[in-house]
Amino acid sequence: MITRELFPLLQCPTCRSRQLYVADDGVHCASCASCYGFHAGYIDLMPRAAAYNYVSKYVTDEAELAEELDYRELAPALLAAGVRDRALRRMLRFRRSDVVLDNGCGTAKHAVWNADRVRLMVGSDPATLFADAAVAQVALAKADSRSLPFADGGFDKAFAIDILEHFPLDVIDDYLAETARVLRPGGRMLAFSNTREMSPIQPLINLSRRLGRRFVRAGLYDFSREARRKSDHLKALETWEDVLAAFERAGLRPVKVVFWNSLFTTFVEHVLMKLGEAILGRMKDEGRGMKGAPPQRSGLHPSSFNPHPSPDGIAREIRARRRIRGQLRPGSPVYLALMAVTLLMELDLWLFGWMRCGSYFILVEKPR
Ligand SMILES: [Zn+2]
Repeated sequence: MITRELFPLLQCPTCRSRQLYVADDGVHCASCASCYGFHAGYIDLMPRAAAYNYVSKYVTDEAELAEELDYRELAPALLAAGVRDRALRRMLRFRRSDVVLDNGCGTAKHAVWNADRVRLMVGSDPATLFADAAVAQVALAKADSRSLPFADGGFDKAFAIDILEHFPLDVIDDYLAETARVLRPGGRMLAFSNTREMSPIQPLINLSRRLGRRFVRAGLYDFSREARRKSDHLKALETWEDVLAAFERAGLRPVKVVFWNSLFTTFVEHVLMKLGEAILGRMKDEGRGMKGAPPQRSGLHPSSFNPHPSPDGIAREIRARRRIRGQLRPGSPVYLALMAVTLLMELDLWLFGWMRCGSYFILVEKPR
């Protein structure tokens, strides 16, 4: 959404002036004469005339990914996203008076799930794959995290879920420096990301992966969509020391860390849920009555584990997700079952959160 409450937080992303005025067509900079136009549900606050070497895959392939990511309709915060969201809430402790930035928000699902807990929730992303609920509830900016369109110290809190692993090191530094800049002194940021480090219990975790692969061989489901989602992970912060050093360079002080050794999570994702999706997707296929035509198998072959998505596997998985989503009203049996599974996944944080591994939640503070 576009809300008046956002205007006092803005500064020009091109020349960094705060001399902005709002007209019918957008926000104008009195200093460099740039115009930042209003679009359906968001303001285009990308810096003008800036050339960057790095552009996210989500920007370059926006149209293609839009279909595949199935982004407009949000499910409730369940499963891995639910674990992230519950950890975000526990660690960042939103308050009614908070102004919060979801920096690199994607669909802005975490912003939507927490918008009613805070005074103003702002979502910022260079790609505008915003969910419908975000357009309705979150102040949205098309923006570049290397030159945020926000004034110094305007935010009480910020978060970065599944962001840092996508960036090369210089972009990580700019991203963190800019996030630190827009936080007020004493403001806090939560990041969830991954290094290349292995969990000490990786052999146990791999048992689920192996079991999952057996299902691929048996033709039950397809990993190609997941592989594609992760296809631009750079993990430039390779070790935990790299993570701490990056936050230190940005002047952000670690407050709390929780690691995610995904023992229960991997079992749920690679075995339980994929099996469920495959079954639901097939029920739908059969329900349509594909008379005469042999079932399409192209996406089910083991060789489909490659960077190129198989349209059939993706379509089936999206169908399954839509089918589940239709039954996901909070309190419904499917919702409660998935919430139970979410809590099972969260056990990983409670039991193994102290054990250093690749996936981490880190809470940092900007010194007062
Ligand atoms: Zn300007």
